[in-house]
Amino acid sequence: MNNPWHATILTLFPEIFPGPLGVSVTGKALQNKLWSLDSINMRDHAIDQHGTVDDSPFGGGAGMVIRPDVIEKSLAGIQQNDRPRIYLSPRGRPFTQNDAKKLAKSSGCIILCGRYEGVDQRVIDHYAFEEVSIGDYILTGGELAAYVMLDAITRLLPGVVGKAASLEEESFENNLLEYPQYTRPQCWKDLKVPDILVSGHHKNIANWRQEQAEQITKARRPDLWKLYEDECNKDYY
Ligand code: SAM
Repeated sequence: MNNPWHATILTLFPEIFPGPLGVSVTGKALQNKLWSLDSINMRDHAIDQHGTVDDSPFGGGAGMVIRPDVIEKSLAGIQQNDRPRIYLSPRGRPFTQNDAKKLAKSSGCIILCGRYEGVDQRVIDHYAFEEVSIGDYILTGGELAAYVMLDAITRLLPGVVGKAASLEEESFENNLLEYPQYTRPQCWKDLKVPDILVSGHHKNIANWRQEQAEQITKARRPDLWKLYEDECNKDYY
């Protein structure tokens, strides 16, 4: 068997992994070795016996920056060094479902979690870390962002989610958000499930879902709607 998809995480808090990734389908897959994870404690590579890993920024300013030599030593022992290197950063390119798909097709990745004001820029440049953000807000550290990224990636690995078909109709497929979902009871608090969904007419159900997905995307996400329309026009011409 090939080596499973593998994530190496550079962090100052290795004890928080796998955290939420250790439960549900991602946790079961981790147990069944469909993917694997190791975390490197950057504190083990501190410059002194006090555990120092950071220093104040040149040029002044508040906060501390993780030192490049500490990250260099933390990277030194990593096997399979050719995996994509990602630095989680609010300055990064927004992480998308397409990124999750691409990364799920690779052999894994190396993730650098910042803390304080972040990491020395020379590390990002020298080791060609791609900066990736999970959204326009500031977290205390990269670890929660790593959870988010790894959850999105590992559920796409073969065998992790029971029915692969359930991945095909999710939000962001074809740049559309998902249609509304309903389950039993058919009538709840006098609210009925749309008749069409209990009609048994598969073609009409598929059309209704497509229309709903289009309406929701148009109303909520004009940016995605534009991409969807552009794709449709490309197919048309
Ligand atoms: N000084 C940085 C700035 O203004 O861009 C913010 C540093 S933040 C307090 C500490 C660390 O949290 C970052 O180095 C990064 O690893 C992580 N982080 C914070 N927000 C993030 C986000 N939106 N996406 C990914 N990582 C984030």
